[in-house]
Amino acid sequence: MNIEGFRHASYQAIDRICDYFLSLEERPVLPSVQPGFLRGLLPNHVPDSGEDIQQIADDFRDTILPESILGELYSSSIANPGFNWHCSPVSTELEEIVMDWSCKLLGLSDAFLNTSETGGGVLGTTACDSVLVTIVAARTTFLQLNPGLSQQDLVLYITSQTHILGCKAAAILGLAYTVLEVAKEGDYSLRGKTLLAAIKKDAGNGRHPFFLIATVGSTSNGSVDRIDELGPILVSNGIWMHVDAAWAGLALACPEYRDVCQLEAINKYADSFCINFHKWGLVSLEASALWVRNRQWLMQALDVTPEYLRTIHVEDNVNDYRNWQFSLSRRSRSLKMWFVLRGFGIQGLQGYIRKTISLCQMFYKLVENSSDFQLVGRPFLSLAVFRLRPKDSLLFSVNADEQTLNDLNRIFHRKLLIHDLFLTQTMLDGMFCIRFNVGATRTEERHIMNAWKTICSQIEPAIAEWVKYYVP
Ligand SMILES: *Cc1c(COP(=O)(O)O)cnc(C)c1O
Repeated sequence: MNIEGFRHASYQAIDRICDYFLSLEERPVLPSVQPGFLRGLLPNHVPDSGEDIQQIADDFRDTILPESILGELYSSSIANPGFNWHCSPVSTELEEIVMDWSCKLLGLSDAFLNTSETGGGVLGTTACDSVLVTIVAARTTFLQLNPGLSQQDLVLYITSQTHILGCKAAAILGLAYTVLEVAKEGDYSLRGKTLLAAIKKDAGNGRHPFFLIATVGSTSNGSVDRIDELGPILVSNGIWMHVDAAWAGLALACPEYRDVCQLEAINKYADSFCINFHKWGLVSLEASALWVRNRQWLMQALDVTPEYLRTIHVEDNVNDYRNWQFSLSRRSRSLKMWFVLRGFGIQGLQGYIRKTISLCQMFYKLVENSSDFQLVGRPFLSLAVFRLRPKDSLLFSVNADEQTLNDLNRIFHRKLLIHDLFLTQTMLDGMFCIRFNVGATRTEERHIMNAWKTICSQIEPAIAEWVKYYVP
């Protein structure tokens, strides 16, 4: 494509992205296509000769919904691999800078700044990848400090509310893990005494816990582990604490949410901390921010430098981000962060976080005041978990058993999907529940009211269907 052709296609891309945003409310939430639909629409091989960009853009508009951000567009224009400072100085340094900006934005300790003596931050792809490299670093460090032990002696700690990233990392790395119990009565937070009991039991079995994933804002129900209680125990047992705040961590940008998110304890005890700017942080995928208290822990485990990667800056102590991750090459992700952080500013981000939380509060007050629904656990930030429990209905009076309520709620949840309300579900202590989370910039009160209207409109149909299936 010549430069003028590129100019035309790029302007058109922006026009189409704007049209897409303007048409969002008219679009269905759920896909209307069947699995495998795309195979029927696209050729099954690469075209023999290059195609016209207009044709590709039309195909994209017509078959694949566009979603993008300016920073991402610009970053596509830079062809650099980003692994060494030497081959991408701007990329490396902008990343260090936006990570430090974000560190301060969230109120994290200066110990995590790239400009600090030992800590630092890296912008990775996803929370799953971030925890994986962190566990590798912790494993190397732990085995170095405990000569004589091997990987078979190690165990990783998670809870029943930890995101699946814990089990997945254990499976990938061939590590044993223990699921620590969290109780409904304690809002599903991991407590110090549970951790102590597990450590004691493992010591009896000759197993060595070396890593714990603590969560601030679990995916399932927004639970927060008691980092203040866990911290001192982990420190005295030489166990690494990784704090997964992939979703909720952005709330730290607002000072009034720092206590509920346990910022003080995070700053004191976390060895690593991860939040996804691509979730509640207005940045497009992938933008997973990972901070470590000691960047050397990552380097020790991940720095492998053959001759062809040596640069003339070895003595200058420059930062080669390839040593913070598994792959060598990396995108210049900092550019989109830079656009968003500058474009919104601290107040803009805070305003957005506060707005989504207040919209969620509006929703859960509706739930609380309704005799048809029940909140399950306490809502956290912009997440409320609820289920249908019609108190006035004779069929589902106070004594209705869990199985009955679960059957009813599964039917109810399906009905919401059919009516284009895409709420995900979860199981909590055997209860089938529905999650309501607000997170989009364009969500307004009227959208919450519309959702509530749909929710209420499906009570009777759900009960009727339950009766049809289950009442003889
Ligand atoms: C979404 C989420 C993850 C997974 O994030 P990815 O970036 O998709 O890997 C992990 N933990 C929590 C708490 C999450 O909410």
